[in-house]
Amino acid sequence: MASQASSAIPGGCLCGAVRFSAVPAKHEMNVCHCGMCRRWSSGVFMAVPCTEITFADESALGVYPSSEWGERLFCKTCGSSLVWRLRGGEGGHVEVSMHSFDDTSSFVFAEEIFIDEKPDLYGFAGDRSRKTGAEIMAEFAAQQAGSE
Ligand SMILES: [Zn+2]
Ligand SMILES: [Zn+2]
Repeated sequence: MASQASSAIPGGCLCGAVRFSAVPAKHEMNVCHCGMCRRWSSGVFMAVPCTEITFADESALGVYPSSEWGERLFCKTCGSSLVWRLRGGEGGHVEVSMHSFDDTSSFVFAEEIFIDEKPDLYGFAGDRSRKTGAEIMAEFAAQQAGSE
């Protein structure tokens, strides 16, 4: 495992077959209400944006390409939902399940996205940034244009 100057945080799946070290871009948790994330995670995907992630052993890691641009990583043994990232890990855009970190105490609940896909039967209390899918896709497109 490459050692980085920035603070990497360890984590892993339920059974321990997948262990990783990830460097949060910010100590923030974002919640995605989109239909794919809800099916995949059996809840909402509570994610920490990370600049990099290193796996101790990738043999138990499953990869599901869920869209033209994104893929989802999970444990093939226990089924834990672990990571959403751009296909092949391009661009350093990695969203790591907040619950998979060994210590979650440093994260704050910063933002809810795809709020327009949230079913009416639940909702999170409190004031924070809430963005629609269209707003997120526009931001994503602007980032892609800016990085080329
Ligand atoms: Zn596992
Ligand atoms: Zn989502």
